[in-house]
Amino acid sequence: MSDTTTRICIYPGCERPAIPPHPLGGPPGSFCDLEEHNALSAHQERQRRTAAQPGGGGPEPGENQ
Ligand SMILES: [Zn+2]
Repeated sequence: MSDTTTRICIYPGCERPAIPPHPLGGPPGSFCDLEEHNALSAHQERQRRTAAQPGGGGPEPGENQ
């Protein structure tokens, strides 16, 4: 298998292709080319979606179980 697998931006709801890793090396990108899609914003969006889901509206998610 070649290393041509298309990575998809891991931002919640985003289906844009992630940026390719730098040709000189470095970690492969997990997000697309949108500046607003990064680890911090993705984390915040996930929490926002989790809080918006029915049944998960507790003020302290994680304390339920
Ligand atoms: Zn994205």
